[in-house]
Amino acid sequence: MLKAIQVSGCVTLPLRWSLKQPLTVTFISISSSFSSKPFSSFSPIPYPSLNLIHSVNSFTPRPRRLRFTPFHASSSPPLHSAGVRNIKFCQWCGGPTKHDIPDGEQKLRAICTLCGKIAYQNPKMVVGCLIDHENKVLLCKRNIQPSHGLWTLPAGYLEIGESAVEGAIRETREEANADVEVISPFAQLDIPLIGQTYMIFLAKLKTPHFSPGPESSECQLFPVDEIPINSLSFSSMVVTLSLYAEDVKAGKPKFHYGIINKRPGTSPSDIHAYTLDHHMLL
Ligand SMILES: [Zn+2]
Repeated sequence: MLKAIQVSGCVTLPLRWSLKQPLTVTFISISSSFSSKPFSSFSPIPYPSLNLIHSVNSFTPRPRRLRFTPFHASSSPPLHSAGVRNIKFCQWCGGPTKHDIPDGEQKLRAICTLCGKIAYQNPKMVVGCLIDHENKVLLCKRNIQPSHGLWTLPAGYLEIGESAVEGAIRETREEANADVEVISPFAQLDIPLIGQTYMIFLAKLKTPHFSPGPESSECQLFPVDEIPINSLSFSSMVVTLSLYAEDVKAGKPKFHYGIINKRPGTSPSDIHAYTLDHHMLL
């Protein structure tokens, strides 16, 4: 379960890499356009107003809503050292830290004044499952903060020693008491502002049984066109489920990569305060 939003630094993203085989990719940038509604109100996904991007080969384009972003242009926030100054003591020897830019680096670091070790901060990986069962998606209502009472896919932080797939299966078991088989990766979504990367897998139930785990108050299957898009817990869930709804509508799920750039100063509950940049479909 994703228990807290951690500000743990910034992702430095490789914005160029080579693909061994020619693939159809689309680079896009989108903004959420859902109107704000009380989180308690359940609304069907308004397909016509979904502000999503479409592979030019697979979807009917909606030019009015598209804003293409050149691949070389980064709309990520500038590198920052959020949280570094909160590291007051060394995690290895307990000595006091100083905050400085080490030789050969560009970022502010917390450096131990006794043992000299540097406390590097790196992004967290969140893993989860998008379970489609008889054309319905399994969602869990969060029974913990943040975003208590809002809906999410079963997902949480990857643990040391487990693979992303293992972590996604574990989180699903913990939050929904469901045993699943992972089918394929569905989305990797980076959120540089808060130092998180989401890896969401498509999965299916091994048996048609599920129930809320201790961190969920409710688990429910939603038809894709009735997902409570305005009562989701995080922007990452809005993006994931909106992309999935579009894929279902188009007849085939794809693999999506994108960068969720949260609007600085917004809270996790401002689920529509983002743009999805560098969206690629495979
Ligand atoms: Zn130390």
